[in-house]
Amino acid sequence: MNAKRFAIVADTVFDGTAVRRDCAVLVADGRIEAVVARGELTADVETRVLDQGGWLAPGFIDVQVNGGGDVLFNNEPTIDGIANIAAAHRRFGTTSLLPTLITDTDDKMQAARDAVAAAVGKVPGVLGVHFEGPFLSPDKSGVHDPMSMRVVEPWHRELLTSLPDAAVLVTLAPERVPPGFIRALAEKGVRVALGHSMATYDETKAAIAEGLTGFTHLFNAMRPLSARDPGPIGAALESPSCWVGLIVDGVHVAPPMLRLALRGAASPMLVTDAMPSVGGAKERFSLYGREIAVREGRCVTAGGTLAGSNMDMASAVRNCVALLNVPLQDALRFASRSPAEFLGLGDTLGRIAPGYRADMIAFDPRDVRVLGTWVSGNYAAA
Ligand SMILES: [Zn+2]
Repeated sequence: MNAKRFAIVADTVFDGTAVRRDCAVLVADGRIEAVVARGELTADVETRVLDQGGWLAPGFIDVQVNGGGDVLFNNEPTIDGIANIAAAHRRFGTTSLLPTLITDTDDKMQAARDAVAAAVGKVPGVLGVHFEGPFLSPDKSGVHDPMSMRVVEPWHRELLTSLPDAAVLVTLAPERVPPGFIRALAEKGVRVALGHSMATYDETKAAIAEGLTGFTHLFNAMRPLSARDPGPIGAALESPSCWVGLIVDGVHVAPPMLRLALRGAASPMLVTDAMPSVGGAKERFSLYGREIAVREGRCVTAGGTLAGSNMDMASAVRNCVALLNVPLQDALRFASRSPAEFLGLGDTLGRIAPGYRADMIAFDPRDVRVLGTWVSGNYAAA
């Protein structure tokens, strides 16, 4: 823990709610102490002044990170693997994330769980884990191995509820799990999201009634929206109690569909679905021993199936402004406060306000280029 007390002065601070001019953010013991007018700052406080025009904003929170820095979580479900992924994404403004395990074996799930249990509190910014699978629909498998998709065993219930001090997110297909399963997880604080699913509108509404609150990469790998069959997308867009994960890379979803999602009642949340190539040096990696290549900015299998993304979170924010005509402060909120609230951490993360963890980014607002990050008050240049 950083015991130092210091201040950051910026022309512009987006605090998660509003844009404020000429402010100083006071940090003590890794938490935000106060946000004051620049003129109120006393001379005895160590002060860092951002370059003219620079913005300070809450750090990004990414709930879907398969890999980064040439590491795929499925291939290295260890504390070192997680540390390398987190470091790679931090350069792009991500100060908190959930390492995300793509559908894999029970042994791999156990290893992922153990690695995350060891990493939380030790590796800066690791909040918990996202299990994307294995209770998914083989009809919407995407890059997941359909042969590894399976039904719920008692062992899975124990595993998913065995990390009380970490955020746990499970992406599942509601039609593939027994009645009451979603409720049992939600009651234990596990976040449940729909994804890789052929659920109908009614099945989705029933899942929401049980406690499902998320939609993983809305539009991709789920029953499509259509006139007499609104499916999960129709249910999501009319649910103010839900958050929808959006991959805004210009590849996964056409911008008009994303703009449609922004007009819905659910809260938008940017995710990267990042693969090892983000913040890495290699253009190839393997999943289940099968090669995935980065081609024209997208990650694809030999058969041409999209396999996650090659996008970092700063690019997601930049694209959100450029492709969807979203004001910068809204895009920033979709990448910080919104995912914090989805995870139930909205009272400690996602804002620059007294008592919040000092997770922040300094960036150039013209191109959303990240200049530096703070995690619990500890600075790193980008
Ligand atoms: Zn997926």
